[in-house]
Amino acid sequence: MPSRPGRPSDASKRRSGKAAYHRVLLKLTGQSFAAHGGSGIDLDRVGALAHSISACYQLGADIAIVVGGGNLFKGTQAEQHGMNRAVADYVGMLATCINALCLQEAVERLGLETRLLSGIEMRDVAEPFVIRRALRHLETKRVVIFAAGTGSPFFTTDTAAVLRALQVRAEILLKGTDVDGVYSGDPRTDPKARLLRHVTYDAALQQGLKVMDSTAFSLSKDHGLPILVFNMQSDPRNLQRAIMGEPIGTLVSAVAPPAYARSSAAPRVGRGARRGK
Ligand code: UDP
Repeated sequence: MPSRPGRPSDASKRRSGKAAYHRVLLKLTGQSFAAHGGSGIDLDRVGALAHSISACYQLGADIAIVVGGGNLFKGTQAEQHGMNRAVADYVGMLATCINALCLQEAVERLGLETRLLSGIEMRDVAEPFVIRRALRHLETKRVVIFAAGTGSPFFTTDTAAVLRALQVRAEILLKGTDVDGVYSGDPRTDPKARLLRHVTYDAALQQGLKVMDSTAFSLSKDHGLPILVFNMQSDPRNLQRAIMGEPIGTLVSAVAPPAYARSSAAPRVGRGARRGK
């Protein structure tokens, strides 16, 4: 009998089981594929990402990944140069596929089984995105990489990340960035800006805090999908910490989990997150 989505299969029992979640969706911005402050693809960075993902896989969580493309091409920027937006967005989506292929190859080189699912059909390099296939791959403990965003122009890969997280029933969206989390103001210009540990969806909206673009944010709010914004670049172990439920970065959710109010203990959040570990 196939295991139910969100439940560990026999294969996961062979892993360490230290993860706080059964299933996570990791959003990697295109910038995480480039050298610091640069553009393009830095294969050493891709290798480091693959090592982080491999270490997290050993913790026992199902891992799905949505890959951005901003290191190579952004539709909004091309539009400012007069390019037709829909065409520019397709180029942006193809850019995510280039990153995704590099990541897939690097992760497989470490011995993990992966599947690349694309929102735009490209049969020679990726499977087309089909929810049931994605779920089946996750149940059989493959690392699933989603490319080409939603497959439609006028969206971002943040929106794709929320969408795919909901589709594969991930308990939390882990948004790996190059900042420590969400701040009360702009830390570059406001000396009083402080890192927020927890923000509710409503507070983020009222205070105009930048978590994700508005489409992505309202989709996660409407469906109660928690988002953890954390720094993936300052320390490669941060992804492991996030998956083990350590209180790093900023958690955005409907209510603060009790662990936040009580102590600095690791938060157990998410829809169906593991308890008592
Ligand atoms: N894009 C799109 N539809 C989607 C996802 C992405 O049209 O569902 C295009 C859009 O042009 C975007 C580009 O792909 O600028 C790269 O994605 P994004 O900017 O989200 O990448 P990131 O900022 O995460 O690197």
